[in-house]
Amino acid sequence: MSVPAVCQRLFLCLGTAFLLAGCAPGEQAVQVQAVDTAMGTVIRQSIYITSDSKDSKWGEESEGENTEILTGAREVITSLEEESLSWRIPSSEIGSVNETAGNSQGMELSQKMWEYLQRIWEVSEESGGALDVTIAPAVRAWNMDAWTQNTYTLPEKEEIAKALEYTGYEKVNLESGRIFLPEGMQLDLGAVGKGIACDEILHYLQSRPEVSGAVISVGGSILTYGEKPEGEVWRVGIVNPLNTAEQIGYLSLEGQWCVSTSGDYERYVEVEGVRYHHIIDPETGYPADSGVRSVTVLCKNGMLSDALSTACFVLGTEEGIKLAEQFDAQVLIVDGQGNIHMSTGMEPYVTLKEQRVS
Ligand code: ADP
Ligand code: MG
Repeated sequence: MSVPAVCQRLFLCLGTAFLLAGCAPGEQAVQVQAVDTAMGTVIRQSIYITSDSKDSKWGEESEGENTEILTGAREVITSLEEESLSWRIPSSEIGSVNETAGNSQGMELSQKMWEYLQRIWEVSEESGGALDVTIAPAVRAWNMDAWTQNTYTLPEKEEIAKALEYTGYEKVNLESGRIFLPEGMQLDLGAVGKGIACDEILHYLQSRPEVSGAVISVGGSILTYGEKPEGEVWRVGIVNPLNTAEQIGYLSLEGQWCVSTSGDYERYVEVEGVRYHHIIDPETGYPADSGVRSVTVLCKNGMLSDALSTACFVLGTEEGIKLAEQFDAQVLIVDGQGNIHMSTGMEPYVTLKEQRVS
């Protein structure tokens, strides 16, 4: 099923649940939940709100007040998309950068975008270009929006070759808070946007002292925050890329973490029995063919976990593990044979159903 179709269906059953949960003596925790759509993906929120039990406002009549937290978190994501990240919206910051391609004046970036792009460029350099947000012309050549249509046709080799003339992060000049994008080039922050959303939601939750814990997923990127009421750990499931209805196991996490997964099952089209997925090898312009089916990265920062999950997918098992470790991140990779590979530091967090996936 295409992402938009999933989104539409979930949108119909959008709602909030309101539950009382146990927590420390003298306090009550209320759990509020929502399933929603933004950034072309599904957003799931589960937030625990704590207050002194003496405070009489905690009850059914305060439901609206509590669910306002959910609305606020969703607004963080939609404004991030509309004002900053979306290449589809010309007035967003990335949309505006794309409009300056070829302009010798370049464009002054907001402080936040400047910092994000510098860190993205660092991952590009360390990964030998496996992560490259200038991949946009190649991604456009694959016309992924049309992958749900029966009439879809694959791009010609020449089209991909032409697109690659206009990609390459090293051709972009980032200098003194400005970006100079060469003519014909475009940025697409799809590989890091959901992780950035997790980082922004983390700031939002930190600004709300009544939030005692939360787990929020933005597509394949998940943020855990604070504590569960009865001291349980957060459990983040890992999808079996060979059979996506199942999970291969889960991560047990305490406090604040970000987990991002990139998989060839997330977005793809099958043409004449061949699967073409949405993670492009910047060297070839074709879907990455590194023998990997999914990559799950665990670290404290959302942008980094998302960037690394894409980069490790392109690099494959051995180099992917090395890259993640270089950034003090942990990684779990499922390859095409169903073998599970992990960085050593990942092991304490992982519970697997079986040692091999089928
Ligand atoms: P998802 O968006 O499903 O979470 P990823 O985080 O792996 O998956 O990002 C994939 C998206 O990033 C693609 O849809 C495309 O827009 C863009 N992209 C694809 N390949 C690359 C790459 N090698 N480097 C940077 N961006 C990429
Ligand atoms: Mg990613």
